[in-house]
Amino acid sequence: MKLSLTSISTLAASLVMSATVSAAEFMTIGTGGPTGVYFQVGNAVCQMVHREAAEGRSKGRQHGYRCSAPSTAGSIYNIRNIAAGELQFGVAQSDWQYHAVNGTSKFDDGKIGELRAVFSVHPEPFQILAAKGTNISSWNDLKGKTVNIGNPGSGQRGTFEVLLKANGAGADYFGTATEFTSSEQSTALCNGDIDAYGYTVGVPNAGVAQAADGCGASIINLNNDAVKKLVADNPYYAFATIPAGTYSTISSDVTTFGVKATFVTSSKVSSEMVYEVTRAVFENFEAFKSLHPAFANLTPESMIKEGLSAPLHDGAVRYYKERGWL
Ligand code: GLU
Repeated sequence: MKLSLTSISTLAASLVMSATVSAAEFMTIGTGGPTGVYFQVGNAVCQMVHREAAEGRSKGRQHGYRCSAPSTAGSIYNIRNIAAGELQFGVAQSDWQYHAVNGTSKFDDGKIGELRAVFSVHPEPFQILAAKGTNISSWNDLKGKTVNIGNPGSGQRGTFEVLLKANGAGADYFGTATEFTSSEQSTALCNGDIDAYGYTVGVPNAGVAQAADGCGASIINLNNDAVKKLVADNPYYAFATIPAGTYSTISSDVTTFGVKATFVTSSKVSSEMVYEVTRAVFENFEAFKSLHPAFANLTPESMIKEGLSAPLHDGAVRYYKERGWL
């Protein structure tokens, strides 16, 4: 190949540029199914990170971070992939954050000592959706039915297994247990392929709306003795209410138990990166909150303490101290 003089000088100029502009650094945030709320959390965080990068250029505090938040299998997948260095951040249920830090339940093969908390996000009630016409209105009605327990790696799959055990049952309590993902399960329910599914997810969301508003599914109350014992015995569970009117089929308040969604990372991720991500969210907090109705009641005070069992990452601590929140 023959290079002309102009292309040589363009090449030289771009070499000089790349030597002076610091290279972009990439981060990936693990989320959940595309119709859930984790996907919205991850993409809202990325939007704020990019906004700070753009506005920072004019304010002279440039950062070169580039962020992406792909759909993943969910909480447990995210925590394990953060530990493996495949993801820098992830969204995870507070019960699975707790078990990862303590080496219990699904993490009894070893604690994830490097897991770090950044903040918590919205509440996630565990919801059992029952298809219209199935006459399922309580836990006992699920016996022998075709029930989606969720894909491996998702938070709801883990929490459903905990709920089964608490009720003294296994997956054989159901006639058939299926493993559809969160983005497949509402279609399966509306098509009559399954009678019910379990989903730990923020309120409201597109996936549940598809089943409730779309084909008349209802959300059942979960407050039997087994659930009361789960809430009494475990710090990461609390009773939760899905208010009447949230979806067209919810005519009175639904009581169930739930967790918090949390935003986590690893001690191996740099303080600079975690600081910039934390800063981006809280400097643009109203804009962040406006991106999804499940974020409506978020406050910094509760986000920096509720649902967090892993130690806060140093980069997040630095920002919270600057704001006088710690
Ligand atoms: N809680 C679910 C999980 O841990 C995800 C919910 C969502 O995608 O919003 O897998």
